[in-house]
Amino acid sequence: MYDIIIIGAGPAGLTAAIYARRAAKKVLVLEAKNYGGQIINTLDIANYPGSSHITGFDFATNLYNQTKDLGAEIVFEKVIDINDKEVITDKNKYNAKAIIIATGLENRKLGLDNEFELVGKGISYCATCDGGFYKGKTVAVVGGGNTALEDALYLSNIVNKVYLIHRRDTFRADQKNLEELKKKDNVEFILNSNVVKLNGTDRLESIDVDTNGNINTIEVSGLFIAVGHVPNNEMFDNMVDLDERGYIKSEDGIHTRSKNVYVAGDTRVKTLRQLVTATSDGALAATTAMRELGR
Ligand code: NAP
Repeated sequence: MYDIIIIGAGPAGLTAAIYARRAAKKVLVLEAKNYGGQIINTLDIANYPGSSHITGFDFATNLYNQTKDLGAEIVFEKVIDINDKEVITDKNKYNAKAIIIATGLENRKLGLDNEFELVGKGISYCATCDGGFYKGKTVAVVGGGNTALEDALYLSNIVNKVYLIHRRDTFRADQKNLEELKKKDNVEFILNSNVVKLNGTDRLESIDVDTNGNINTIEVSGLFIAVGHVPNNEMFDNMVDLDERGYIKSEDGIHTRSKNVYVAGDTRVKTLRQLVTATSDGALAATTAMRELGR
């Protein structure tokens, strides 16, 4: 029996584990993919207080090592269900006095035929992870937020040419990122446009792009999809309430509708999804859980 099981090894989950381990609680962190969550894709964390200019990968690795060094068990298994005091993964069942859900968000998909099949064969959701495979090649990035523009900027230093495809002609991204990208002579903007088809069977060979009803086929070796994120919490809906977009509801930002089941980080309903609010959530969820378990 663990004191606390934390689902998710992103900044919220790992911070919760740090606080619980420093109180000598028996802690298990379960993670379906890689540690670090979304922050691992950030090239330069510039707004985390007291820690300017560190890569997301280095930040996440420091956090992971800190959590391990404090004695938390971190196991890479996919959680498929929870009930009262049990967490069920695709491999095992674990018992806990308290559960903290810190599952973060998943990459939003474009929903195109073959998108899933071509992941790792031309389709990627992480430029900093996969950009190196496209040295000297032509790639496209789709999206108009900070992630898409930073991905395009990063790739422009590695690949031969980058198409930045966005469905509108104005951007959600910061002006600073837009201005930096416009300075790059190997970046071409394709605006008011949507990727409508992925061509290629064993590998991505080209994409069809719809611009105001005109379809153009563009040869690319890689397509980096950066169109935002969505929660994936349906497996918890027997224990927690979800809003219409799938985020976990919590009246105070910590408790769910079930006793001893807490929520932390980007996966809950909140107004600001940032590293600093994720780590804050993790600390609050762990300290609240410990207080309510009677320490
Ligand atoms: P985002 O800001 O939600 O932007 C998603 C982009 O994808 C939007 O431009 C959106 O277009 C487009 N989009 C959504 N669905 C689409 C679809 N089905 N087809 C085509 N395009 C689609 O997501 P994000 O860029 O990942 O950023 C998430 C948050 O992290 C933001 O708050 C962002 O500022 C922050 N962030 C910050 C930094 C930084 O500070 N350095 C870096 C990365 C991310 P529309 O604009 O038309 O809706």
